Amino acid sequence: MFECAPTMRDDPTVPADARFETRAIHIGQDYRSETGAVIPPIYMTSTFETGNPGSFDYTRSGNPNFRNLQTTLASLENAKHATIFASGVSAITAIAFGLKAGDTIISEQNIYGCTYRLFERVLRKFGVSIQYVDLANPDNYGLIAEQKPALLWLESPTNPLLKILDIRALADVAHSVGTAVVVDNTFASSLLQKPLDLGADLSLLSTTKYTNGHSDALGGAVCSNTDEWQEKMIFAQKALGLQPSPFDTWLTSRGAKTEALRMERHNANALTLATRLEAHPRVKSVRYPFLPSHPQYDLAKKQMTGGSGMMLADFGHTQEGALAFIRRLHLFTQAESLGGIESLVCHPATMTHASVPKDVREAAGITDGLIRFSVGIEHVEDLWIDIERALAVG
Ligand SMILES: *Cc1c(COP(=O)(O)O)cnc(C)c1O
Repeated sequence: MFECAPTMRDDPTVPADARFETRAIHIGQDYRSETGAVIPPIYMTSTFETGNPGSFDYTRSGNPNFRNLQTTLASLENAKHATIFASGVSAITAIAFGLKAGDTIISEQNIYGCTYRLFERVLRKFGVSIQYVDLANPDNYGLIAEQKPALLWLESPTNPLLKILDIRALADVAHSVGTAVVVDNTFASSLLQKPLDLGADLSLLSTTKYTNGHSDALGGAVCSNTDEWQEKMIFAQKALGLQPSPFDTWLTSRGAKTEALRMERHNANALTLATRLEAHPRVKSVRYPFLPSHPQYDLAKKQMTGGSGMMLADFGHTQEGALAFIRRLHLFTQAESLGGIESLVCHPATMTHASVPKDVREAAGITDGLIRFSVGIEHVEDLWIDIERALAVG
């Protein structure tokens, strides 16, 4: 009689040359071998017995779910390390609170609104000074060499204007004067842009967006290639109390497994809609990084492998007209945030940038007619019909 006692795989090690799609599914799947659970469970525990093999002590400073997601994200960003936080803003806090009174940040001027608020309303109180510069213009690079800031804060593509910054060129300038470079990689996603490969010291993600991709959990991450930065991030996670919940972390781990598939559809849908809108007679302007009309199209093509799902359009509406257009849409929900499987639409002038005075907003290019789309992964023809129908009225 042939007997075969079942055993688990001889070696579950993921091949070192496995690609993004494979690593997203197989890297960071630990703490399950005892049961054979195909998916690691959620470790809903605040504390751990002293002397355990994983050296866990208290969830604020580490949890199996954190370690799994950190391993996954480090792999997806081609980084040595990743540390996760409760939100993207927590990740920003972790970096910002490594600074001290007297330090300077030079920041791209068109950054995420909550980053700006944290810099202006919180960091300034602690004696950190921040200068905002248009870093899409190389004429302004000189300021970095002149000021030698502690940090250079980049975001690319930017929110909401989708400006593209030359990460490699800016990192070279910054490193020549010992400045550390942070790139907020949220709009691009880990699949489409690798800031550390382009020379950045830190890549920051709001995992709330494309990493998780399902609009059901908040989270943030900071990725780096040095042990010094990793120590600072782990310290911030526990000392500032910036840790996520094991449940949200588990959801984000689940979301990350499909990041490549989702991003491919986000890219394809957004490029199709942007291309068709640009040819539409009612449209004043469309901005999308992978449209040849984008002012930094060549740079976008060089440092990103896809245009992502964010698109801007101006249909020549007044503020009321733009809001009425938004209400006529059936499939795009008016909401802040982005990067989920469902399509969203936002009116920056009255939503994300409502607190910015009108003249400042308009000078920055955020006009009343501007509409921001987070293009989801629905069927592109359904999305197109929806936009076309809403445009045909009024
Ligand atoms: C959403 C977002 C953040 C903040 O992330 P939260 O998870 O909402 O705290 C930071 N940067 C960018 C570019 C974002 O889109």
